[in-house]
Amino acid sequence: MKAGILIHDSIPYSRYMSRRLLIAANWKMNVVPTGALEKGSPYHPLSDIDIVVFPTFLDILECSTVGLMVGGQYGHPESQGAHTGDISMAILKNIGCRYVLCGHSERRASHGETDEFVAEQVAAALEVGLHPIVCIGETWEDRKKKKEKAKVEEQLSLLSLGSDLTIAYEPVWAISGGDPDKPAATADDSQQMHEFIRSLLPKDRQEQTRILYGGSMKPENAREFLNQEDIDGGLIGGASLDPKKFVEIVRIAEELLMS
Ligand code: PEP
Repeated sequence: MKAGILIHDSIPYSRYMSRRLLIAANWKMNVVPTGALEKGSPYHPLSDIDIVVFPTFLDILECSTVGLMVGGQYGHPESQGAHTGDISMAILKNIGCRYVLCGHSERRASHGETDEFVAEQVAAALEVGLHPIVCIGETWEDRKKKKEKAKVEEQLSLLSLGSDLTIAYEPVWAISGGDPDKPAATADDSQQMHEFIRSLLPKDRQEQTRILYGGSMKPENAREFLNQEDIDGGLIGGASLDPKKFVEIVRIAEELLMS
């Protein structure tokens, strides 16, 4: 357990008392990993860590039926209407979702999702009782110009940060294995950004709001990222499709919790 202030004679304060670790598997446009639906698979909820999977819309129902904690990879801000190919927050909720991703960088880039749209999604999710995980993060261009903090501040500016939501900091250049021409994201850099993001939250939400890290998290680097004081879990793409890698990341998270 990390050292810190004493909240009781003998119980040292731990961030885990305010923020449960959350390990989220973003399966993107991929089929459900082999064995994931079976009893005892590593994608099932645990008592001490939140494990959430984000399957394709078609797979949500089956995942939720076998007891996985599920989320939608996207939800439209409007409750119904002429939006071909879209899905509403209420439909996600009704088929068993508890969470929804808002503003993933892939959707910002290929579906033109703006900060305004993402803020509307978050409001719509909260309205129906879905827990939004809002994805933010700078591009490599932003970082080269030392504008990474300005970028995440801008992305957060329209959100009602006093609400019950989770933030996922995902440097765009580090997602999907990163880019061989660019350095890998480091846990130290990410911790600095997480601390900065936390400082932007209303004072009374700073302690309990979870801030996940996302960007090529895998068994080899998970301990370093998850061990940072302001990193409260991971949003994991590629490695979450491999049950062996995923179970190892979950094991590392549990070990840190116990240490
Ligand atoms: C993601 O897309 O949210 C993500 C973090 O993917 P990966 O782990 O593959 O970088």
